[in-house]
Amino acid sequence: MADTLIKRMSTADADFDVALTKLLDWESASNPTVGDVVAGVLAKVRAEGDAAVLEFTQRFDAWQPENAAALEIPSSRIQAALDNIDADVRTALETAAERIRAYHLHQRQESWSYREADGTLLGQQITALERVGLYVPGGKATYPSSVLMNAIPAKVAGVDELIMVSPTPKGFVNEMVLAAAAIAGVDRIFTIGGAQAIAALAHGTESIPKVDKIVGPGNIFVATAKRQVFGSVGLDMIAGPSEILVICDGKTDPDWIAMDLFSQAEHDEDAQSILLSPDAEFLDRVEASILRLLPDLERADIVRRSLSGRGALVLVKDIDEALALSNRIAPEHLELSVDNAEQLLPKIRHAGAIFMGRYTPEALGDYCAGPNHVLPTSGTARFSSPLGVYDFQKRSSLIGCSATGASELAKVASVLARGESLTAHARSAEYRLLGEDDE
Ligand code: NAD
Repeated sequence: MADTLIKRMSTADADFDVALTKLLDWESASNPTVGDVVAGVLAKVRAEGDAAVLEFTQRFDAWQPENAAALEIPSSRIQAALDNIDADVRTALETAAERIRAYHLHQRQESWSYREADGTLLGQQITALERVGLYVPGGKATYPSSVLMNAIPAKVAGVDELIMVSPTPKGFVNEMVLAAAAIAGVDRIFTIGGAQAIAALAHGTESIPKVDKIVGPGNIFVATAKRQVFGSVGLDMIAGPSEILVICDGKTDPDWIAMDLFSQAEHDEDAQSILLSPDAEFLDRVEASILRLLPDLERADIVRRSLSGRGALVLVKDIDEALALSNRIAPEHLELSVDNAEQLLPKIRHAGAIFMGRYTPEALGDYCAGPNHVLPTSGTARFSSPLGVYDFQKRSSLIGCSATGASELAKVASVLARGESLTAHARSAEYRLLGEDDE
């Protein structure tokens, strides 16, 4: 078993295309049983509010709060978590937060406008969302880094109120998550999770306020609930399992590459780690590193299942072919472990985040480099982008006609409106026509 832990493929193989399609295939979050369970949870929370949230929290998180008020963590408790956390953890969280904030400040969109010769003003006004819900997973593991990555862009955008939800299995609250929330400026925290938390945020209950948009990753129950409430509330994305694609010229230490592949595979068994290289002997060395380093990993079982199910070491003709293949895959994370990685950028069309050079492992981006770690997965980088400040801003169009500007536009609008048989539109425009005496 050990020597076939990860698939070997070559773009020269006759069946490469078929094999690649099979490798990339992943069943999306559309399990019908989960869909039914989630629909039931959403309907009940919508109808019964807090009582349903309490019931589902007891059923799915094995925790029975006294009443709905006990679902909220008091702000003094959030601050205490920050005050009492280990100094080195606090410093790491604050350093990461500062870097994430500095990066996202560059993403702020500004309002703009221009005035035409006749005085008509046209433009776009940018405003922030009022209230946003942030889902922080907490079933099997806890994710303080996700708190920072989701909350900080919202704060930079100027969102008024940030409501965080995170499940607390058996009532256990993670102190590092609370400390991260305090640093990121989260306003209120509720200890609920799963579909019931998404329902509460989407529709509101007696205790939990309805939000305008929900962001943040979660398991299949969370993803399915997000899909089902879309329309009542805005969403960031429906994320699939995490992925990394490494392109290496064969000159990086194979242990580094093996560990970079593991860093993705340890997320869960559906995660995908793929290496492309034109150097067959290098692929042998990476495979040897994988076999040697894997047994000592804390999450060796998950890594083994992920690599054997969805991982691959692929021999390519050259770096150009690797880049073309990468564009086809549109990976969430793309590592360019080569010399002069920056020079390759013009050839990259589709990737969530691009890590350039041998000294830029994805792990640095996951925590503290600055860019967001919430990225499009499963090929959706073809049409979507990392979570950013722009996801928390809206645009309103501005139109302000002068009298002469309105008269000119009315001539055009009235013809088009009559062509559509919308005579009230036409007459509304025509009222603004200036007569000869007016000019
Ligand atoms: P979670 O908070 O997403 O889910 C836990 C909740 O699921 C529970 O509170 C419960 O309400 C619900 N649930 C569990 N079993 C249920 C059942 N049988 N019926 C109904 N509801 C049920 O936490 P998790 O399970 O640890 O999953 C976290 C997910 O988030 C992982 O898949 C992880 O990979 C992902 N994640 C992604 C990123 C990213 O940036 N893409 C970051 C962190 C985590």
